[in-house]
Amino acid sequence: MIKSLCVLGSTGSIGTQALDVARMRGFKITALTANGRADIIEKQAREFLPEYVALADEKKAAELKIALADTPVKVLSGSGGVEECASLGSDAVLNGIVGIAGLKPTLAAINSGSALALANKESLVTAGALVMKTAAEKGTPILPVDSEHSAIFQSLQGCRDKKQIKRLILTASGGPFYGRSLAELKDITPEQALNHPNWSMGAKITIDSATMMNKGLELIEAVWLFGVAPDDVDVLIHRQSIVHSLVEYADNSVIAQLGVPDMRIPIQYALTYPDRFESPVSRLDLAECAALTFSKPDNETFRCIDICREALRKGGLYPAAVNAANEKANAMFRKGLIGFTDIQDRVEKALEYSLPAGEYSLDDVFETDASVREERQVGI
Ligand code: NDP
Ligand code: MG
Repeated sequence: MIKSLCVLGSTGSIGTQALDVARMRGFKITALTANGRADIIEKQAREFLPEYVALADEKKAAELKIALADTPVKVLSGSGGVEECASLGSDAVLNGIVGIAGLKPTLAAINSGSALALANKESLVTAGALVMKTAAEKGTPILPVDSEHSAIFQSLQGCRDKKQIKRLILTASGGPFYGRSLAELKDITPEQALNHPNWSMGAKITIDSATMMNKGLELIEAVWLFGVAPDDVDVLIHRQSIVHSLVEYADNSVIAQLGVPDMRIPIQYALTYPDRFESPVSRLDLAECAALTFSKPDNETFRCIDICREALRKGGLYPAAVNAANEKANAMFRKGLIGFTDIQDRVEKALEYSLPAGEYSLDDVFETDASVREERQVGI
């Protein structure tokens, strides 16, 4: 059972919910990190009195240091400061950073032997082979926080042989534009796309949910976490977000995890696994739910799932390339610089890069990330 916890990305949607769980469970917070939202992290630092806080933005970190001068909390700065917090050897590190910025902290946590509660799916998408290899070498557990992966992890409890798994089924709400044609998607504005029907999340993942790229990233995440082949992971549209994902076994029995859509259930399970405790989340009353519906995704209109499956098939650095194209396009769309359907067009282009398909180093991942963002073709 963990006692001490470091929360990376503590000011975000996952981070603040992780602190709700920490407050309820009485975890000792060792460190908190964020990018630049100094006012929020200052309040958190005053409440939890961690040993360290870190801001990746060095200017904001300098301001925070002055603001927290009357407390014993030490302030670190830059991405190195964030990694230092991940390396403290806390019982667990919860990684709620958004984007590839979470990759080095993920590796730092694993290398320091802390259990890793992983929300930052981009770590596994960009460098799944490296992350899983390092975790296996260090014997560090990776506990999924992403609701679908937590549901699969929960549905796999008691499965003694991976060969008995026939298929993993990721559910997807379909986002705000489910059922629309490509022509109807062209003029979508960032405000419309930021309005998710079931989940309240950070801006980047909310756009990823609207384009279905989130499900593509989750497909890659599932393949690494559970060691299955890409073709053994299916996606099912389930508008109500009550059934969080399913596992189909050799005997055609299907086991699923259900609950109201609230991330504090998977966050708490990752931090208390294998035990369960009361949580602040409401109970699921199935008799009160409207009908639960399931259907196939429209992969012709929303192409990101197939693009991610193809990136996995191509292997090596292709998932990192696709992730980089998406991170850039997602941010450009939010700034009003490109249209909604341009996101998937740009992500698809990343498959055309000429990249090695075999083993890669961490430097290769960051070089690929930079070259795709800068739209330059370089040999690695
Ligand atoms: P938010 O945007 O709400 O929060 C992101 C956090 O990361 C903030 O604390 C932010 O700091 C910090 N951050 C941003 N950039 C950097 C950087 N360069 N270096 C260090 N820290 C940084 O995101 P979410 O909480 O929604 O998502 C976090 C991760 O969890 C993502 O990978 C997402 O896909 C995954 N996830 C989220 C779910 C959700 O319900 N929100 C569900 C499942 C998975 P600051 O506030 O200072 O900018
Ligand atoms: Mg998810």
